[in-house]
Amino acid sequence: MKLYTKISIGLVAGATAGIVVNIAGWEGGGNVLATIEPFGLGWIRLIRMIVVPLVVASLVVGAASLGDLRTLGRVGGKTVAYYLATTSVAVSIGLVLSNVIKPGRGLSVESQQALQAEYGTQAAGNIELGNQAPSVVQLLLSMIPDNPVGAAANADMLPLILFSILFGVAATMIREDRRRAVLGVFEAINDISMVMIHWVMTLAPYAVFVLIAAVTARFGFEILESLLWYTGTVVLGLALHAFGTFSLILRFLARVNPVEFFRRIRNAQLLGFSTSSSSATLPVSMQIAEENLGISKKISSFVLPLGATVNMDGTALYQGVAVMFIAQVFGIELSVMQQLMVVLTATLASIGAAGVPSAGIITLTIVLSQAGVPDTGIALILGVDRILDMLRTSVNLTGDLTGATFIARTEGENIVLDATTAPTVAEGSPAQ
Ligand code: ASP
Repeated sequence: MKLYTKISIGLVAGATAGIVVNIAGWEGGGNVLATIEPFGLGWIRLIRMIVVPLVVASLVVGAASLGDLRTLGRVGGKTVAYYLATTSVAVSIGLVLSNVIKPGRGLSVESQQALQAEYGTQAAGNIELGNQAPSVVQLLLSMIPDNPVGAAANADMLPLILFSILFGVAATMIREDRRRAVLGVFEAINDISMVMIHWVMTLAPYAVFVLIAAVTARFGFEILESLLWYTGTVVLGLALHAFGTFSLILRFLARVNPVEFFRRIRNAQLLGFSTSSSSATLPVSMQIAEENLGISKKISSFVLPLGATVNMDGTALYQGVAVMFIAQVFGIELSVMQQLMVVLTATLASIGAAGVPSAGIITLTIVLSQAGVPDTGIALILGVDRILDMLRTSVNLTGDLTGATFIARTEGENIVLDATTAPTVAEGSPAQ
């Protein structure tokens, strides 16, 4: 049986088990799920443990193999431009849908009060975290690590990325024999990380079962009902962006078959969904890019680690809808100009969000306060955030992989995705 099939079975079985426990209010079942949940959490840690070595190794090798500063500048410039453009499109989709559907109009006063009472305290915690969010100057300064080892130890990705890229570029400036020795080590670390990921992936179906069962048992579907319009708008927006925008980019810019593309990356999407973390899914996305999509290491090892940290289309789209929803609930009209500012701040806020669960709701406070919408409104949407987080993370990953395919194409790589070039790995067998 293929790994994808096994993971899908784990997902469906987990969701069913969780919902049964939730609906029946079955305490014993809830306890069993709570007892086995650490297995799922431990599995996420297993993947996360590989992220720092993999990001450093792949960016050093990636930056060095781009050769000279000119190529690096060209690929880097294209990547950043692509990420900014697609993220802005994503927020715009969210805003347009919210203007048309007006999800905030449908929420009754009773539901509002009930939601605020239930999630108010938790929201206050998020708002406090959000208020500690740095200013733009601080953000730029914090991208420069004063100690790269410290940045690695704290999994502080932006500074680590900057250091690794500079290190890789600097490596191209030294004597050939020394460069070979250093890069050889990083290449090996990269390959070893991939082997470890293959091992961890064999446990994925069981971990996915546990993670999904625990979430659905805890949250159930009741909460979805009261926020049906909001949830529906976000889900519709995410679907339009994932299957509309990305398909167009894949078809007309990257010139590959979108259906085949989605088929080959589905394991990454499932894992993004189950872990709600772009960072944790990065090793799998990298493996899929190289082995299933045939993108060169040179491009994937540069574009994907950067994307996992800075490119979050799903997060930005959801922030656009959330701002409009909360504004509508509070009866605040946002002018076209204010909405254009939302495009800008949501794009920046999604860059600032780390690729970890719930990061987006914390940086949402920045977008809300910039738009003059009360951030206490977060209490209204907190209940469904866990589920939307899963979906938006899948879209974030899809955006990174679409970007890598597009950039590879513009760099002259011949990417052929059809049934004859079947995906080879990311289905179980270790890379050699
Ligand atoms: N969980 C998301 C990610 O890792 C970030 C977020 O929107 O909360 O991509």
